[in-house]
Amino acid sequence: MLGHELILKMGNPILREVSKPLLKEEIVSDQSKDLVKKMWEVMEQAGGIGLAAPQIGVLKQLAVIRLDSDSERYENIEDSEEFVIFNPKLEVLDETKQGFWEGCLSVPGLRGYVERPRKLKINYLNEKAEEKEVIVEDFLATVFQHELDHLFGFLYVDRLKSVKDLIFENEINNIPEEKILD
Ligand code: ZN
Repeated sequence: MLGHELILKMGNPILREVSKPLLKEEIVSDQSKDLVKKMWEVMEQAGGIGLAAPQIGVLKQLAVIRLDSDSERYENIEDSEEFVIFNPKLEVLDETKQGFWEGCLSVPGLRGYVERPRKLKINYLNEKAEEKEVIVEDFLATVFQHELDHLFGFLYVDRLKSVKDLIFENEINNIPEEKILD
């Protein structure tokens, strides 16, 4: 798959850095427009449902997310709108934990069972530098937390309760009734 070779993998120190927020004039610049376009392309080529800028070596607070129910790689997920997220601020609305088998384009071949709060509010700027607020729950809440973690130097493996919750993805079918995130 194209796209994969552009994605930094776990072990690359850039993935552990904290990304910088952008000014509104930077967000509406041609440079940001090109970056957003590239992020969508890399994400689609790699078959992902979300991508954060540090994953392609850019330490800016930017992530893109789009859930696709037609995806062959993910079962039981619903389509979402396309989110272009700059400078996110996250607030937990429901601390109740929910777990999913998460995957990451920066951690190829593995899945990890991670529990995270089930409902959040996210304030961010979109690609037009407009202030947006979205309330997300269930699987989409996990996807947002996973992608926004990337902007602050975290990977899902940091959120595992036990190394026993880390598996090879070709064993995922041996685990019943779970969703998969990538
Ligand atoms: Zn990831």
